[in-house]
Amino acid sequence: MATPTTNQLNDTPKQGNSGTEKCNDPRCIETLQLIIDGQAGPEDDAFFQSHIQECMPCYRKYSLEKSIKDVLLLKVEKKCVPSELINAIKEKIKATTV
Ligand SMILES: [Zn+2]
Repeated sequence: MATPTTNQLNDTPKQGNSGTEKCNDPRCIETLQLIIDGQAGPEDDAFFQSHIQECMPCYRKYSLEKSIKDVLLLKVEKKCVPSELINAIKEKIKATTV
């Protein structure tokens, strides 16, 4: 009688692995999200700016999220303007300037 083989995953967390450190302050993760969404108040902003001076994982995440957001904004801006609309605006400008 064969015993069923169970694949046991050895997911023992390795410590001291540089580059995969995480921030253990829940407030800064929350604040980061607010800042990325543009919902952060001046208090949140001040807290986060001083926090990332000492918190490398948060700083990395912040700059990454920010660049993603910037790229998305650029793409959305370009996509959101259909050529019909541009033409309509051009027509309007023509009509008003003539
Ligand atoms: Zn942090």
